[in-house]
Amino acid sequence: MVKKQFEAESKRLLDMMIHSIYSQKEIFIRELISNSSDAIDKMYYKALTDDSLTFEKDDYFIKISADKVKRTLTIKDTGIGMTQDELEENLGTIAKSGSLAFKNENEIKDGHDIIGQFGVGFYSAFMVADAVTVYTKSVSDETGYKWESTGADGYTVEPFDKKEVGTEIILTLKENTEEESYDDFLEEFRLKQVIKKYSDFIRYPIKMDVTER
Ligand code: ADP
Ligand code: MG
Repeated sequence: MVKKQFEAESKRLLDMMIHSIYSQKEIFIRELISNSSDAIDKMYYKALTDDSLTFEKDDYFIKISADKVKRTLTIKDTGIGMTQDELEENLGTIAKSGSLAFKNENEIKDGHDIIGQFGVGFYSAFMVADAVTVYTKSVSDETGYKWESTGADGYTVEPFDKKEVGTEIILTLKENTEEESYDDFLEEFRLKQVIKKYSDFIRYPIKMDVTER
């Protein structure tokens, strides 16, 4: 399988995230939940105009699962998903909105506040994860795809047999260090605390499932 390189700007942002000493790493949860919420919004609007789709409120939710044995954190949504092109475009290059601020060198010097205020989107996952795996199936695609990256050396995309439309993002957490316990993000109370702090306004249910062993 061919490993593709991130666009130069993206790689810089990614490097910053990987080596981040930012103290509020917890905001990656806010970023991923907000992406899931956006994706469900898109599904909702599509269903309004597309008669072949129905929007049953109960079918749309975000689910956070923590596996303490595998040390993985999974954020799953029943949103609109991504096609192969969208995967490449959205996760291989810096997206339009919040992340754009990073294109300005001066702002990068003061990056700490930017992370707090505007968010840096998807790549913030690399503040806490060594590997990020995305399984996704778009509402307008027959096949699903798997996107995977272990950081700045690039990413891979391959077809993956995913049944339901939506996206699942699996973070394999970094090893704990003396200064930092990433295991913290596998604790239900901690996850709830962060979700309450940053994602209280999200309109879709956020379910939670913590596997102890
Ligand atoms: P932003 O949300 O500011 O556009 P992000 O870096 O957070 O930037 O996300 C980049 C893009 O990746 C999003 O705009 C969206 O198109 C896509 N994306 C990210 N997460 C998801 C998801 N869970 N479902 C569908 N698309 C997603
Ligand atoms: Mg985002």
